[in-house]
This record gives sequence, structure tokens and C-alpha cells, in this order.
Amino acid sequence: MKAEISTESVPRLDLASTCTKNPNHEGFVNFDDFNISHLPLPLRREDYFKYIQILGNRVVRLAVQKEDGGCIYGSGFLYKVGPLYVIATNDHVIGSEEDARNCTVDFFFNSPESPNTDSSYGESLLGGSDQQDLSLFTFKPVPKRVEEMNLFDNSGMSPYVSVHHDDLSVTQRRGYVCKTRGKWLVMVSRRDLYVDKLVSCEINFMRENGCQTYPATFVGISRIEEKMIGLEITDVPDFVPSVGSSAAPWPNGRDFVPVVIAHPHGGPKQVTVGKTMAVEMEGFVGKIYHTARTCPGSSGGLVITVGGDASSYVRYTAGPAIHCEGDKADTFRAVPTETGNIGASIFVSI
Ligand SMILES: [Zn+2]
Repeated sequence: MKAEISTESVPRLDLASTCTKNPNHEGFVNFDDFNISHLPLPLRREDYFKYIQILGNRVVRLAVQKEDGGCIYGSGFLYKVGPLYVIATNDHVIGSEEDARNCTVDFFFNSPESPNTDSSYGESLLGGSDQQDLSLFTFKPVPKRVEEMNLFDNSGMSPYVSVHHDDLSVTQRRGYVCKTRGKWLVMVSRRDLYVDKLVSCEINFMRENGCQTYPATFVGISRIEEKMIGLEITDVPDFVPSVGSSAAPWPNGRDFVPVVIAHPHGGPKQVTVGKTMAVEMEGFVGKIYHTARTCPGSSGGLVITVGGDASSYVRYTAGPAIHCEGDKADTFRAVPTETGNIGASIFVSI
């Protein structure tokens, strides 16, 4: 499958005339035109639709200026972690500090006719993982409309980590927590952090206002990647598993329908609906293979697991996923796709 970044930006999707993947863009719906009838029959419920709209509003377009003078376009998803607003996207969209600084973030590009967008600019890379194909970065300024969104504060998912080295130096930063195969991991950027000199780690969760500290116990280094390490912890405070779990309006334990919200071809935000073909663990990352239509530019877009339960992969029923890769395909493992598309998206634990 291919990373889905675009080198063009179209004001309307029908102007993406060179597209070879979905030439007429059938099945793509402008975010502002998306309504309850676009959902499969059993999912046509007002509360599901509202939930999709609210999350979809947090999808942004990213434009990254490259050294050679070109620009690439992708998608991202807005989070709040403590006082910080961050964008989650793919490592192949924002892969370095330089990419983060050279990125324009467009919020609310929801309609081709009345764009009514707010723009902001990448500030700093918080962490990235090429193996997980995930990166997180901050931006400024924070548009007023973003502040007014009253985003759920995910600070419980982002502990403070102090790494003590054998030369007595200490590196402090925030990580993000994920639970996979029964183990709790805190993922932290490796910048200024030296694995071969590591003596001990202190890991502290904070409640939303930051007044109370809840330590977890560091067990050991569980994963070492090029940009991140995974620290295994136990004694995770009771409130952590529940963070972010209650939001989705659908019950646990059912299969889900993937709904992708992204900016294909760097154009206005689009919604597509598909079928889940498989969900698998790859390493410690849960991956959804699905048939929702995507195009170049959809990388980093949001995948909502509507009507179902992602909790066996990410601990949360509503665990949203980030779209990573896609291709043309009439079948996937001998099963017809019906949309001519196969995509892969990863669950994220923040
Ligand atoms: Zn296309």
C-alpha cells in the first residue's frame, strides 16, 4: 500500500482530474453535506451522527513546505493534552522538527464554497514514530474557534517522564500512554534521551488541573525505535484506563463501520464510509484494513470506528484511528472490496 500524500491542492474535489485512484470521486461527500442518510441503515442515529460531526470538526489540512521548494499535503487530527493543543498525523507527513516548523495547519476547511478556515503554523514536534507511523506536533497561534471547542483534556494520557542517566543528567518530557497486549507502555521521544546511559525513570500522571501527581512504577524499556522508546510501567493510576473511553455513543462488543474524514488532494474535508476487512496487531500497533475510499492527501486523516468497539486494540471503545496508506484493490485476501479501495489505518492511544 502507498502513503497517501498529495503534491497538489484543489479548491474542489471534482477539479482533481488527474486522480487515477478514484477518478470521479464517487462516494466522497463534502463534510458540510454529510448527513445521517450517508450512514449504513443500522447506524442512522442522531447521536452517532452528532459524534461524527464533532470529531470531524477536529480534522485539519496540513501543507508542508519542503526544502526543494515543493509542498506536500496531508491531513491531521486535533487533540488537547493538558494545556497543549497538538495535531496527530503520520510520520510520513510530519517526520521531523523541520517539517513541523514548515507546516501550515488549516482548520475548518469543511466546504468548497465557503471555506471559512482558520490557519495556524506548526511549532514543534512532540514525538514521532516511523514504526507506528504517528507523529504529534504543536502549533501556534491557537485559533479562537479551536479554544471554543472545549476539547476533552487528555492530560491523563500524557504522563511526565524524568529519565536519569548515569552521568547524573536528567531528561524530562511528556510521553503518551498506550496499552497493548496487556502491557502498559509510555512512549517517549528519544531526543536528548540516551538508552545506554539510562539508570532509572520516574513516571508521573497528573490530573487535569496538574495539582495532584500519581506516580506509576517503571518496569523497564520495552521497545526501542529510531525516534521513540517504549517504557513499560505498572501501578497505573485508576483514572487512566477510563480516560477517553466514555465518549462514543455506541455499545461495546460490536463490529464497526470505518468512517474516514480527511482532505484528499489537499482539498476540502471529505467523508467516506467503508467496510472493515480485518483488524490486526502489528507489533504493538492495532491496524484496521478497510474499504473506505481515500486518495493522496488522506494520510493522517481520522478514522472513526462507528457503531463498534475498538477496545481490544487500544483500550477505548472509541479509540480513533489515523489513516496511513491506501491502494486500488478489487479484492482483499480474496474478499471483494466493492469500493475498489483498500486502506490501512492505525489506532492511536491518545
Ligand atoms: Zn482522488
